[in-house]
Amino acid sequence: MRKYVIMGVQGSGKGTQARLLAQDLDLVHMSVGDIFRWNVQHHTKLGAQVRRTMAAGLLVSDDLVEGVVRDRLTQHDWNYGFIIDGFPRNERQAEFFLESYDIDGVIHLDLPDREVRRRVLARRLCSGCGMDYNLLASSPREAGRCDVCGSALVTREDDTEEALAVRLREYHEKTNPVLAIFARKEYVVTVDATPGPERVQEEIRTRLSLPPHDPARPS
Ligand code: AMP
Repeated sequence: MRKYVIMGVQGSGKGTQARLLAQDLDLVHMSVGDIFRWNVQHHTKLGAQVRRTMAAGLLVSDDLVEGVVRDRLTQHDWNYGFIIDGFPRNERQAEFFLESYDIDGVIHLDLPDREVRRRVLARRLCSGCGMDYNLLASSPREAGRCDVCGSALVTREDDTEEALAVRLREYHEKTNPVLAIFARKEYVVTVDATPGPERVQEEIRTRLSLPPHDPARPS
């Protein structure tokens, strides 16, 4: 069983890299941000609790986040392991996580802030299936429509200049100390996230001694 955490600033490609890893290694991809977005989109009580915080680019309270992570991990659909994306994001979450689960590695995607801005402001999300697009690198075949389900593409509510500035500040202040905690335990591999997704994936697999990505074997 393999258990990984993937960390990186907004737009560093955490979701994409986690999906590529999960695809042929039979890992379950857990994204706390995706769980929150699903709840906002479906107007649940949790969605109502987190919507404004998310839109402002701030971190949701630790109690809510830990509850979501605990519930997700107790589903036990991860026989071969998991890759968790977007958690932990501060010291308290890191301690909660390390007390409850042992992990095999932390993948840290490193991207300079100027590149973050360029990527995040070009990001679009499918309003139907949640598929991610980036107008710089992966434009849909028909402008504004999802290639997979045909629904309209929208901009994430927190992908604005203002929210991005807040999120970058939150990241550097609160998430960098998490990396320091994990680094002390020698879990962290830092990978340059500037190249294209395939190159980044190749580098992650080399550094973690994992087999090369096999796109023909979706889980
Ligand atoms: P992401 O998709 O990972 O960028 O997450 C989107 C938003 O969800 C963040 O800006 C936060 O508002 C919230 N969020 C996701 N994960 C966490 C977390 N571990 N702790 C606090 N807030 C979170």
